[in-house]
Amino acid sequence: MPYAYDDDNIFAKILRGEIPNTTVVETEHTLAFEDIRPQAPVHVLVIPKGRYVNFDHFASEASDAELADFNRVVGEVIRKTGVAPEGAEKGYRLLSNAGVDGVQEVPHFHLHVVGGRNLGRMLQPG
Ligand code: AMP
Repeated sequence: MPYAYDDDNIFAKILRGEIPNTTVVETEHTLAFEDIRPQAPVHVLVIPKGRYVNFDHFASEASDAELADFNRVVGEVIRKTGVAPEGAEKGYRLLSNAGVDGVQEVPHFHLHVVGGRNLGRMLQPG
């Protein structure tokens, strides 16, 4: 089934400059910006500039340049926000919600970079 991208989603509006964002890193193919409702001291969203709905869409249809650039930006965000592990300290979590079961709110692929406190276990029961 082809992936249907909604150009009215809020991240598409951010990419078009219609809604402001607090940019952390920007490159040719990728934008990283602060989450508007942070769930930890560090909560940054990394999005490709291309029209991809979720991770599987991005992984299957993005160019090698887009894929490489995205990953480089994620690494840069981790270092820039100071959450990169140092010995027994610090650390972070990367996660991406997709579809109904993943409870994805915004239908433009994004990776959450979360850290700055102990994040506890990955999933809550139930
Ligand atoms: P998800 O449930 O993975 O789709 O998460 C979407 C995320 O986008 C949530 O963490 C929201 O707080 C965040 N978000 C929604 N609107 C904005 C916005 N205008 N700027 C920054 N983050 C946003």
